[in-house]
Amino acid sequence: ILKDILAAAVAGETLDPARLAFLLELKEPGDLEALYRAAYQVKLRYIDSKVRLRGLIEVSNVCGKNCFYCGIRGGNRKVARFTMSLEEIVAAARHAAEFRYGSVVLQAGERSDPGWVDFIENAVREIKKLDGGRLGITLSLGEQSEETFRRWFDAGAHRYLLRIESSDPALYARLHPADHSYAARVESLHLLRKTGYQVGTGVMVGLPGQTTANLVHDLEFFKSLDVDMIGMGPYIVHHDTPLGRQFPDAGSDAGRQLELGLKMIAVTRLHLRNVNIASTTALQALAPNGRELGLLAGANVIMPNIGDLAYRKGYLLYENKPGTDENAGTAREKLERAVAAIGESIAYGEWGDSPHFAAR
Ligand code: SAM
Ligand code: SF4
Repeated sequence: ILKDILAAAVAGETLDPARLAFLLELKEPGDLEALYRAAYQVKLRYIDSKVRLRGLIEVSNVCGKNCFYCGIRGGNRKVARFTMSLEEIVAAARHAAEFRYGSVVLQAGERSDPGWVDFIENAVREIKKLDGGRLGITLSLGEQSEETFRRWFDAGAHRYLLRIESSDPALYARLHPADHSYAARVESLHLLRKTGYQVGTGVMVGLPGQTTANLVHDLEFFKSLDVDMIGMGPYIVHHDTPLGRQFPDAGSDAGRQLELGLKMIAVTRLHLRNVNIASTTALQALAPNGRELGLLAGANVIMPNIGDLAYRKGYLLYENKPGTDENAGTAREKLERAVAAIGESIAYGEWGDSPHFAAR
């Protein structure tokens, strides 16, 4: 059956939940190879073999929320909090422009106080002044009011990443305190689209208690939301978190977490076809070549960290996060070699919007 399902998917047929589940349950190395190869074929057909880069700037680890899985949750007293200055953010963005990365992502903990909203608005404006306004700007700053989304959009941001984390309301509720609302998160995703952003979402894969049915639901959720970009990654434990304390061994089988992350990328590529899919740092945390494996399983975006090295160790979402001791220049050379080694190249100097958005 596998051959038939993959052939149907490559031919453009929509996969029903039973077939999505079948693919996600594959275990034999030969079957997994076939799955990744099919997803790669679909990537070549709908996109190409060029990697789109976004220079990631981790602006601040100050967070007003308390997601049970996240190392920088507001309640973690062990974290030394930092916020980059406007000058530091602009300097990092200038690096991205010099490296011809084409776009940057500003990511941080979630805050919505007026000072923060103004600060980000200014940062976006300042980045837009660089390089003749050519640098694309993605934000990943959590849930905000419609007005805030609008102000940041008007300042020049054009893409927004907001993971649903899990599209199953019951699992979502187990991962977050009672005052974090699933409905509000979904509403934010709708507001982002309404404002005019290219919208990205995603989930963590391999969470304690997560089933294949949950992941199938996630895939259907992505499709129903008609998203432009997907950022997914394996869940990696952080022991100073409620989830890490409750399930200290969750995800300890790095090989299995990596495999599940790659399968989810591949099946997402088969299901959504022409969206941008990120090969995330969490994959690299599980294997040194994790991001390249992500590209070979159908991903087409990489987000190299270009922020100040001094702050990296303060942004530990999970343990053993890679790249905390590597400056942007070294990371860039390594990445270029790694991408060339799998026969792909980097699309320098372009925003790299997804064909899905272009076709909207
Ligand atoms: N605060 C914003 C938000 O939550 O949307 C953006 C920053 S948040 C740190 C970015 C992503 O990190 C989250 O969407 C979550 O999926 C991921 N993350 C947090 N803790 C993680 C963990 N233990 N393992 C893997 N990913 C994690
Ligand atoms: Fe804050 Fe985002 Fe971490 Fe949740 S995932 S605690 S919102 S930084």
